Amino acid sequence: MVDMNSLQALYGGTFDPVHYGHLKPVEILANLIGLQQIIIMPNNVPPHRPQPEATSAQRKHMLELAIADKPLFRLDERELQRDTPSYTAQTLAQWRIEQGPTRPLAFIIGQDSLLNFPSWHQYETILHNSHLIVCRRPGYPLTMNDAQHQAWLDDHLTNKTEDLHSLPAGKIYLAETPWFDISATIVRQRLQQGLPCDDLLPPSVLEYIHQQGLYQNSTDA
Ligand code: ATP
Repeated sequence: MVDMNSLQALYGGTFDPVHYGHLKPVEILANLIGLQQIIIMPNNVPPHRPQPEATSAQRKHMLELAIADKPLFRLDERELQRDTPSYTAQTLAQWRIEQGPTRPLAFIIGQDSLLNFPSWHQYETILHNSHLIVCRRPGYPLTMNDAQHQAWLDDHLTNKTEDLHSLPAGKIYLAETPWFDISATIVRQRLQQGLPCDDLLPPSVLEYIHQQGLYQNSTDA
């Protein structure tokens, strides 16, 4: 008998700022596959990305505001508290040790992240410690750029949610979540241009952004 309460899911990102494109797909995912909790883990110094505009404390506070009335989510600050680059592979290895060898663990990513996943530090080891659950994102294909990476994807793909609940790690699941055409880049650009963002992120987060004067001189605008 599969224990539907056992699968733990971690959701990493920069969240600069957190927006509905982060929150809504995974809330729907939780209903689709029976996830009781999603652990949001903001990263500190993303090794392969430009530095975030908001400070770690500001990104953390925006996440706290966004999930304040949503018991599905919990915040994990382990990567924020590090002053070295946060590599998902290392974080998941540590998480596996904490959770024991048999508990099903999953790492949630958007479709864009799946495409560049093979460029992540020690990406192959990530599936030793967790499953990968991929949410749809408009504008990105569901096939990999080269044959070797496609073979890797095909080797691990499953369309059975039971696999996620019964196996500890090793599967990739392409979830049929709806598309949300929102990115943090678009949010920063619109804020910099003084355009409304009410449909893009929670009101409490927007209010905090205005109060802190964040993203007024966005470098990607
Ligand atoms: P930026 O525009 O600054 O690159 P972003 O909006 O992609 O940021 P991140 O914090 O880098 O946000 O993303 C964290 C995770 O959320 C990634 O796995 C990413 O694929 C996923 N994600 C972000 N936006 C969406 C979206 N609209 N739909 C599905 N997944 C998303």
